[in-house]
Amino acid sequence: MIQLIRGFKDILPGEVELWQQIEKITVDLFEDFGFSQIRIPIMERTELFKRSIGEDTDIVEKEMYTFPDRKGDLVTLRPEATASIVRAYIQHKLFAADPVQKLYMVGPMFRRERPQKGRYRQFYQIDAEIFGVASPLVDVQLIFLLTTLFSRLKVADAQAHINSLGCPRCRPGFKAALREMLMSVSDRLCPDCIRRRDRNPLRVLDCKVPSCREALADAPSILDHLCADCRQDFDAVQQSLDRLAVPYVVDKRLVRGLDYYARTTFEIQTGSLGAQSAVAGGGRYDGLVKALGGPEIPATGFAIGFDRLAEICGLDVENLLDKPQLFVAALGDRSQSLAFEWVCRLGQAGIRAEMDFSGRSLKSQMKRANRLGAAHVLIVGEDELEKGAAILRNMETKEQTMFDLARVVENIKQIFAGSR
Ligand code: ATP
Ligand code: MG
Repeated sequence: MIQLIRGFKDILPGEVELWQQIEKITVDLFEDFGFSQIRIPIMERTELFKRSIGEDTDIVEKEMYTFPDRKGDLVTLRPEATASIVRAYIQHKLFAADPVQKLYMVGPMFRRERPQKGRYRQFYQIDAEIFGVASPLVDVQLIFLLTTLFSRLKVADAQAHINSLGCPRCRPGFKAALREMLMSVSDRLCPDCIRRRDRNPLRVLDCKVPSCREALADAPSILDHLCADCRQDFDAVQQSLDRLAVPYVVDKRLVRGLDYYARTTFEIQTGSLGAQSAVAGGGRYDGLVKALGGPEIPATGFAIGFDRLAEICGLDVENLLDKPQLFVAALGDRSQSLAFEWVCRLGQAGIRAEMDFSGRSLKSQMKRANRLGAAHVLIVGEDELEKGAAILRNMETKEQTMFDLARVVENIKQIFAGSR
């Protein structure tokens, strides 16, 4: 038997209902906050991700699914959404009508990582981006939106972590101080971090190797190096979060390794996912639109890991499963063909009805109706045909009603109207 690819997964009925509910609640919230949906391709030119995510990131160095297409052009299955959304924003000149655009998307991403709980090679993200607003208040709005969403989804244990990455004016000073400190602990760093120390020292801060984390316990904090503007900006973020009563912790190790990221950066973390603690990550990336060939327009956004969110979501799946409102138990060929017509007509009218096509005994059909959790069963046997009537049985109260065969669909529609 051919099995699915390692790190990929099926989302089966029973679990899908939860995913649908999460997506519905999320989309409703996005729409309430004035976001519009954008749909981007699953594949892009490799160059786009190299330029936007950066050559010396884990994603580009070792996680992308990249291959030449049949004409030899290098293409990549998208590992994240921001690059494509920025490309679309520039390519379709969305800024021309109004530079302020609030966009969201939901869909699969691909990264060839080591599969484990909460880490897959095809996973899903919910992504939101705001273009054209430089004010730190929209960063706060994004964090507020995330915490609102997480509480609607009954996520028990989620905590916002925030930091500032400074700007191109103050970050170089911090980088130099950090590099100097890293030189003094070089013998305790992993080989990856030795390389990062020279090429991109910020990334050493989020290395997950325990010995590196220990070596960095006393690393300098970027918050001590912010310029006056960045300081003011970060203070405004915290004051505004306080006013909105959003709990957060300032986490000086939260970084993005790329130069176009600036100022506010944030993550939502949870203790209930083991090693995979980040459920969502985001921040301001003011330099990216320009770096990808567009005008100088600030931007900020986040991505939520849908798979991880589904694992920690506290909504009750049992209640979400849709059960048939009606099961038609039909005995004999004539009843079966009548039943078939009713089931079709009822489905068309928005009433979920099921029947058994095997012509089994009434007893086994009732058993099936019970197993499906049908609220009512409509019984048509030889006796009922003879009398020109069908019997509707309420499975909970056991109450039975007789219907004229000619008026079954109308009567059922009337009974169930608005009950769904
Ligand atoms: P991590 O540190 O866990 O590798 P990341 O920094 O690579 O996360 P981002 O690129 O910021 O993650 O993506 C945003 C979110 O997408 C993460 O917070 C996480 O919830 C989710 N995510 C990232 N990679 C995976 C994956 N391989 N499988 C499932 N979810 C993922
Ligand atoms: Mg990762």
